[in-house]
Amino acid sequence: PETPTAISPETVQKWDNRHFFHPWDTVGGEDADRMIAVEGEGIYLIDPDGRRFIDGPGGMWNVQIGYGRTEMAEAIGSQAMKLAYHSPWAFASEPSALLARRLAAMAPGDLKTVFFATGGSSAVDTALRFAQFYNNLRGLPEKKRFLAREKGYHGSTYLAASVTAKERDGNLLDTEKRLVHFLPNINPYLRPEGMSVEDWCDAKVADLEAAISVYGADTIAAYISEPIMASGGVIVPPPDYHRRTREICRENDILYISDEVVTAFGRLGHWFASEEVFGIVPDIITCAKGLTSGYLPLGATLISDRLMAEICDAGGEDAVFKNGYTYSGHPVCCAAALKNIEIIEREGLLEHVRELTPHFQARLNELRRHPIVGDTRGMGLVGCVEGHPAPGMSERERLAIDQEFGNRVDAKCEAMGLIVRPLINMCVFSPPLIITRPQIDRMFDILDKAIGQVE
Ligand code: PLP
Repeated sequence: PETPTAISPETVQKWDNRHFFHPWDTVGGEDADRMIAVEGEGIYLIDPDGRRFIDGPGGMWNVQIGYGRTEMAEAIGSQAMKLAYHSPWAFASEPSALLARRLAAMAPGDLKTVFFATGGSSAVDTALRFAQFYNNLRGLPEKKRFLAREKGYHGSTYLAASVTAKERDGNLLDTEKRLVHFLPNINPYLRPEGMSVEDWCDAKVADLEAAISVYGADTIAAYISEPIMASGGVIVPPPDYHRRTREICRENDILYISDEVVTAFGRLGHWFASEEVFGIVPDIITCAKGLTSGYLPLGATLISDRLMAEICDAGGEDAVFKNGYTYSGHPVCCAAALKNIEIIEREGLLEHVRELTPHFQARLNELRRHPIVGDTRGMGLVGCVEGHPAPGMSERERLAIDQEFGNRVDAKCEAMGLIVRPLINMCVFSPPLIITRPQIDRMFDILDKAIGQVE
């Protein structure tokens, strides 16, 4: 059979359409005509004709250090030669021990125990299963319900998808037993006219309190929350929302899980956003994506020492947490994560993001001058531009027009050498953290022009 380098782009497209069932793919219909990526270099993706595109979404919010890093390839290659794999059940090894220690040192508070997963979804599954395990061992088997949020995205495995409100298909848990409850959308853009952001925050915090009083804290195991909601449309919470909800969870003995799959490893200018950006220490943090900058798949669930100690105090010190993956703590993936962290640190990328953030966000907010733009929002090197519904449009018309906004802006951007991610009525972006100020300007110049062209 032909090797990947021996086949023409047309053949790649044909075989891809015929055999690769992509994430969120349609079953029938027209072929998707996806762009073919041949190479990556810095912030650019390169197609078969050698055209270079700024990777606006940074892969899938994950390519922090950019593409084509020789030292990453070398770290991966040398670990693969030395020890490609060992059973995480039976063995320990240097890369996973070093990485676990490193993550424990970077994490807020007493989150010192690290469970390795294969990506974000399995890290979230681990967190949710741990919350139930914890309550079983404390003699609280009724305390099993999860509180999640409208527009939240936590992954595609069955359990992670069940706390994802963005797409409700296949929700295993939210049956008539109502094992998952979704709190209403917190997006401040949606607040009624004349309502202050402070009042909006009060109302959103009250939604959490109301859910607890409806179900009873003794039936709720955990609350799961992204510091900023990424895939749900870059929803930045009103100030103080996280601190207040964290407090309510603590008072009601409900575990607070901060899903930092997107926000950790520099996206908001810090290793983790929970404490340094939002001032909270969660009980559990999930992370993945930027942990390896996309060079290899890896996720991690960080658990607080307090929870581990409570399990022991309740007599559960010999209990077995029956959760594990063949690739938990995979030595090559852990070596990639260690190299990635080393590069972020050595190149001062956290500081770089903090320095560039005001300019990035200012350029983003300038896009509001277009009448077609309803809202722009973001934080760190994450941004979203949302199309405006025309006044008086029915929901049906609005959705049709809105849907076109993302795709039309995307098509125009692509023609000018920028990839953005269309999300229904929005375009979202989170470029590699190594992006420079002139490259940010180039990105927003293209976006500005593209939006002007679809107006
Ligand atoms: N959690 C959040 C906040 C995410 O954004 C994602 C993916 O986008 C996930 C979990 C799932 O991660 P993965 O796709 O690596 O399983």
